[in-house]
Amino acid sequence: MGISDLHMHTCASWDCSAEMRDMCEQAVRLGLEAVAFTEHVELNPDDDHTYSTFDYHKAREIWEKVRDEFRGRLVVLFGAEVSYWPHLEAEIRRYLEERPFDLVIGSIHHAPVIDFWKPRNAETVRSDPDRAREALKSYFADTEKLASSGLFDVVGHFGVYERYMPGAWPEIWGDEELETLLTSAVQAIAQNSRLELNAQMLHKPGHLPAPRVEVLKLYREMGGARPVFGSDAHMVAKVGANLHLALEAIREAGFDRFAPWTGVIRKNGPSYKAAQRIDMG
Ligand SMILES: [Zn+2]
Ligand SMILES: [Zn+2]
Repeated sequence: MGISDLHMHTCASWDCSAEMRDMCEQAVRLGLEAVAFTEHVELNPDDDHTYSTFDYHKAREIWEKVRDEFRGRLVVLFGAEVSYWPHLEAEIRRYLEERPFDLVIGSIHHAPVIDFWKPRNAETVRSDPDRAREALKSYFADTEKLASSGLFDVVGHFGVYERYMPGAWPEIWGDEELETLLTSAVQAIAQNSRLELNAQMLHKPGHLPAPRVEVLKLYREMGGARPVFGSDAHMVAKVGANLHLALEAIREAGFDRFAPWTGVIRKNGPSYKAAQRIDMG
């Protein structure tokens, strides 16, 4: 079983302009076995910049064409990365019931008191540890709810708040409140979903994998299944990026390899039947 990159975006995502075909050509060049396009699905009406920007039918039409074109060379899966908000769980459930995907990643992209996507906020995180702790508490509590909802095959980039501000956050281990919240979140993931090793920043000095190795270890000790690999590529050059560093990280945590794509796709998704045929030879 070869390597799969199960977290990638194309121009069907609001923050990406890459073409699916180009991403697939790159995956073939790299010798990947499968890729999953997990486009951003944003269902929060308060965020008018991203709300409802994903067009399921249009994306699916493009995917079907590309999938057929690459048949025999690359398995191309149709997925989504849904931003999870506890107060929108019913809407997310309904959305996913009505629209079949092969793989659904649930991600927390917010921690209300600090916008961790803006690198300049690292200064606030450093100078106001109380506020930073509030952000972490809400991030962990929301992640636990995300995993417990049972709606998601994979939990995306756990620890993403470190992406643009590595090393700025308060220490979690030894902080009883934070440690308890983190541990319950990881337990919920181990029981109801699966971790992704998000490799997006791994090549940069000072950056750690999302999640960190000690979190992966805890997850494994709690019975968590093999993680999936995700480059989180938004451009062709990033497809499959940092795979070897990611593999080192999961091995350090005690996993032998990444989960194969056949072990994580949904039974009611558009690729499941075809995958069964491949499995039966
Ligand atoms: Zn994300
Ligand atoms: Zn993503």
